Amino acid sequence: MDIKNIIDKKLDGKSLNKEEIFYFVNGYTIGIINDDDMTLLLKAICDKGMDDIETTHLTTAMINSGDIIDLSSIPGIKVDKHSTGGVGDKTTLVVAPLAAACGVKVAKLSGRGLGHTGGTIDKLDSIKGFRSDLTEEEFVRQVKEIGVVDASQTKDIVPADKKIYALRDVTGTTNSIPLIASSIMSKKIASGADKIVLDVKTGSGALIKDFEETIKLAKLMVEIGKKHKKETIAIISDMNQALGTSIGNGIEVVEALEVLNGKGEKDITDFCVTLAGYMVSMGKNIDLEEAKKEVLNALESKKGLYKFKDMVIYQGGNIEDIELSDKTYDVYSNVEGYIYDIEEISLAVECQNMGAGRKKKTDAIKYGVGLICHKKIGDYIKEGEKIVTVYYDTKKANMKKIQSAFKVTKKKTEKLPIIYGVIK
Ligand code: URA
Repeated sequence: MDIKNIIDKKLDGKSLNKEEIFYFVNGYTIGIINDDDMTLLLKAICDKGMDDIETTHLTTAMINSGDIIDLSSIPGIKVDKHSTGGVGDKTTLVVAPLAAACGVKVAKLSGRGLGHTGGTIDKLDSIKGFRSDLTEEEFVRQVKEIGVVDASQTKDIVPADKKIYALRDVTGTTNSIPLIASSIMSKKIASGADKIVLDVKTGSGALIKDFEETIKLAKLMVEIGKKHKKETIAIISDMNQALGTSIGNGIEVVEALEVLNGKGEKDITDFCVTLAGYMVSMGKNIDLEEAKKEVLNALESKKGLYKFKDMVIYQGGNIEDIELSDKTYDVYSNVEGYIYDIEEISLAVECQNMGAGRKKKTDAIKYGVGLICHKKIGDYIKEGEKIVTVYYDTKKANMKKIQSAFKVTKKKTEKLPIIYGVIK
């Protein structure tokens, strides 16, 4: 098969067949197709798209690049959760232990940062000693013994996604429905869980910003899940502003711990209770309201917090040692009015410029840098009022860019909803 012909076929807007897709995915995974050719194909897919049949083949090729984890030795329903990514999205850190504290087995494969969006594995790596590259045996044992695990793709489990994901992160090939759907669903099928809860983000900070396109992505992933005989639901949630207050890596783990300690902001706490509620409802086959009550109990009794700590200990981390910079400064508003928009991408780019994300595959992350946003859409701000606290290391964030990310108007603005709908 000819690599150039396959790229040209996609550039011409034609559909690739199963053999061509498998050839490219396998070839890249084992190293006979290089980064440059893969980047050309990824860019062509971003430009020309893929139909649902191609996306299904792409997902299968990625699943087949490694092992599917066998969780059949663990009794009960195993649940996995995944977000399509956003700015300040630390929900996995909260919902996975909360659902596990309610007795649901959570077997989760996560990713690193992708484009402007953060990644759960990078966040967890800000905990000293934390190991995300577990073997299959370690993964299964942990689900069995403590009921929750969060690991990354490895050379044995979805290795194709591990390589393609890292390349997409630094080549501007993140905002594509087929690439997102195949990346997420290959991990979800390979994790071996029986049921899947998807958090599909929409809005300015999401990879897919447009609402109708978000719905398309959600429906496609739910269908792929069903084809693989996994009960899958997608919650469509807001990503026009960060959930909670923090954006970064270590700083988001610290906030997740606050939420699990019952001291989180209302928006992220409510959202996590609902999301974990869906996981518990599916994992225990109980009504959503009953499941949410169990989650609230796990939150109030701190069982979720202890479960998170168990997970960190099992994966070699020291929860007392989370990387967070001690160099900070505040940014104050230079305008007055009601906030109607926050350019999340500008805030994410400022974090990335300070080292919170990668520009090249080989870049090392500065886990301790990030931002705390003190204001939300719908809030009134006065000139001179503190809007953001910056945690920096060697390079500071651009104060003017942060100030201009907050858009104000004289007219009173409304708070945004957090959930827009559910697709089953
Ligand atoms: N999360 C993933 O795992 N992959 C994507 O493409 C986007 C979010």
